[in-house]
Amino acid sequence: QTPLLRIDGLKTHFHTREGTVRAVDGVSFAVPRRRIVCVVGESGCGKSMTARSVLGLVDEPGEVVAGTVSWHPESRELPVDLAALDPRGAELRAVRGGEIAMVFQEPMAALSPMYTIGDQLVEAIQLHLPLSRAEAGERAVSLLRRVGIPRPEQRVDAYSFQLSGGMCQRAMIAIALACDPALLIADEPTTALDVTTQARIVDLLRELQAETGMSVLFITHDLGVVAEIADEVVVMYLGRVVEQGPVDAIFHDPQHPYTRALLGSVPRMGAGNRQRLATIPGNVPHPSERPAGCPFHPRCAHAVAGVCDREEPPETSTAPGRRVRCVLHTPPTEGAPA
Ligand code: SF4
Ligand code: MG
Repeated sequence: QTPLLRIDGLKTHFHTREGTVRAVDGVSFAVPRRRIVCVVGESGCGKSMTARSVLGLVDEPGEVVAGTVSWHPESRELPVDLAALDPRGAELRAVRGGEIAMVFQEPMAALSPMYTIGDQLVEAIQLHLPLSRAEAGERAVSLLRRVGIPRPEQRVDAYSFQLSGGMCQRAMIAIALACDPALLIADEPTTALDVTTQARIVDLLRELQAETGMSVLFITHDLGVVAEIADEVVVMYLGRVVEQGPVDAIFHDPQHPYTRALLGSVPRMGAGNRQRLATIPGNVPHPSERPAGCPFHPRCAHAVAGVCDREEPPETSTAPGRRVRCVLHTPPTEGAPA
């Protein structure tokens, strides 16, 4: 069986006067059916741009220059390559918000202050389903109930500025669910919220995933959230996937030094403020200043001089479903003694 979504060799480049910025540079991973895949990495690693590329939402001067995005929901007999569709065409527009829904970081900004939550839900519903206004209105109330908004019959007439950030994000999730998407892409959906609200939204997404059978592509820089929600993890650094695998394997046996460093910077629950957090030395360079060789080498505690700064290691499968891109895990070349 094909996965729901399979990204292969995806490259999204920005053509600027200073040269080509390779924001996404050969990304490959799959989103299996009925699974939650988390894409994790520091900001500036190409996570959001990968998601935007899938949906044809790359702004000028950016462009998907290579790769395929094979999309195969149950409603389609054959998979379709989303990367081959016109980003501004009707076909991809129908996929966006219909078969694939999105939730973003700033729920307040994503909702219009001019219309009620109910109006915005009804619009989303009617865009993709042939329902009357009254029927769509009923569906709007039941969706608000389903995402845990109390007194939905009243809240449906509220404006976004009358709701808390957490309630707005629930409303955004209701809008996303309006058309029964096969995939929900959530880009840092909890980052703007306080810790308690974050945890509730993560729980809600897990419940909704189990209830609907949709898949979720969840983008975050927060490994605490990953531990709560992910089935599979994709770790990105500077436009590349450096490690991927099942969540337990990633947390219990991280193989890439970047993954290990990220895990080292996760705050320990209950340790209080006295425990200083380990942080990764240095910053993510701008993609236009990608270091030669392994792009992580200037920050890597295990970098091998003369090796890591020269050649980028290939992606290697280290166990079924696990891949890592690091010389420490590259098998000896054929013919070399084992
Ligand atoms: Fe570190 Fe070298 Fe592995 Fe890159 S290839 S992560 S620099 S050890
Ligand atoms: Mg982002």
